[in-house]
Amino acid sequence: MSENTIAFIGGGNMARSLIGGLIADRHPAVGLRIAEPDAERRDALTRDFEVQAFEDNATAIRGADVIMLAVKPARIADVVRELAPHIRDQKSLVISVAAGVRCADIDRWLGGESPVVRAMPNTPALVQTGATALYANEQVTDEQRDLAETILRAVGMVVWLTDERDMNAVTAISGSGPAYFFLTMEAMQAAGESMGLDARTAHLLTLETALGAARMALESHEDVDELKRRVTSPGGTTAAAIGELEGGDLAGLYRRALQAAAHRADELG
Ligand code: NAD
Repeated sequence: MSENTIAFIGGGNMARSLIGGLIADRHPAVGLRIAEPDAERRDALTRDFEVQAFEDNATAIRGADVIMLAVKPARIADVVRELAPHIRDQKSLVISVAAGVRCADIDRWLGGESPVVRAMPNTPALVQTGATALYANEQVTDEQRDLAETILRAVGMVVWLTDERDMNAVTAISGSGPAYFFLTMEAMQAAGESMGLDARTAHLLTLETALGAARMALESHEDVDELKRRVTSPGGTTAAAIGELEGGDLAGLYRRALQAAAHRADELG
């Protein structure tokens, strides 16, 4: 793992997931710093991860090789403008995880001609099974691309995008995606309980089935449509359930849900 110093601006859910994953990957905690205005969150981050947490953004980024912007999209312009002179002086690489915020805007707030990587990770980074898409502007060197990839690869898989416009679709699939699966698990667990299973049994069976299905699909050379076909005998139990789900237009529902997420990402930028 790289030994660069990474400063996180914003110590909320996403930063916590990335920091937890980097520490689990044995990134030395001394190389991780966080700027977070909320005192309770700062204390929790220091306690949980033994990292240095600062109230002041400029202090946190001093000497950092990489600055990871992990504030809400609405805050990012002010944060970047405030830090721009320091970032330019120390030639740090900026990685932004903010949904919908374009590299060109971040570059403009930095004063122009600055290396900026846009990343869309997701919260399973905490358990090192994150999925991240990366996009780099033209100022990012090969070495900086490698650095960004090394950091994000420590917490899961990484794909590079060649067209930044694809980032909103990525946000809709994997950035927001864990919540869709949590919702599905919640619904399956509730259905199991409604048929008489106790909550713990329904919960465990649902989660292990989700994990098993994902692992099987990842390890198989077949596509998911074929895997589904193989476990769905005509007239059988699975076919009865799939018939209900398809009858309720599950595919259409997902299409509309992901379009809504992508549209929202566009509005946030
Ligand atoms: P969050 O609200 O949990 O965290 C944001 C943190 O920033 C808060 O702790 C807040 O106190 C802090 N903050 C506010 N103003 C600040 C300032 N001026 N300087 C420094 N810190 C400040 O939000 P989150 O879910 O962690 O999302 C952060 C970013 O990550 C967003 O831009 C979001 O689009 C992106 N993101 C989130 C997810 C996700 O699943 N949560 C996934 C991908 C990308």
